[in-house]
Amino acid sequence: MASVLLIEDDQRIRQSLAATLADMGHELRSSPTGLGGVAEAVEAAPDVVVLDLGLPDLPGDEVLKMIRAVSQVPVIIATAQDDEARIVRLLDLGADDYVVKPFSASHLAARIRAVLRRGLSGDEPSEVVVGGLVVDVAAHEARLDGKRLDLTSKEFELLAFLASRPGVMVPKRTLMAEVWRQPYGGADKTVDVHLSWLRRKLGETAANPVYIHTKRGVGVKLVDPTA
Ligand code: CA
Repeated sequence: MASVLLIEDDQRIRQSLAATLADMGHELRSSPTGLGGVAEAVEAAPDVVVLDLGLPDLPGDEVLKMIRAVSQVPVIIATAQDDEARIVRLLDLGADDYVVKPFSASHLAARIRAVLRRGLSGDEPSEVVVGGLVVDVAAHEARLDGKRLDLTSKEFELLAFLASRPGVMVPKRTLMAEVWRQPYGGADKTVDVHLSWLRRKLGETAANPVYIHTKRGVGVKLVDPTA
């Protein structure tokens, strides 16, 4: 069972999909507008989004871009045109799959299952080791040189996100989207504040970094100091 967000202005399609998906055990919420859909995608954190391209307030491409700026939720595009160039562009913009109208609810349900399976089988290991740092994603705890770190939930998620891609500079915008599921305002200090708390718990400072290295205006990366 998954929670599905349907962004679709056609009430008949919404109702018929809602009924069928509910029968299949999915939880469905919907929005008739692009902007409302983006807000729902952030607030409700659905497992998958089904996005109609022909919305009254915004072009579907724009809605997709806005969702991608704040969330990695799988997005299935529902389009009336079987236009390959357009679909390729949407997949490049971060759509995960597409269905061409008219489609049946069971066809859509199969696509939803496929997208969710892909997400689950993603190669996120349950434990990440970087130097003396062990991040146990399944247990939601981290150890440094064998000693358990006392982290808040957000500090842990921040650490786990960075540790899962060691050496990769991650923009603050991405951290806001992935860890806080919020868009990044330029003056926002949320990331910096949590990074400084995290550093302290790791026993390091910005001036003398060991694991966490920030580059002003670019982002932050976690490195293996033993490598
Ligand atoms: Ca429409």
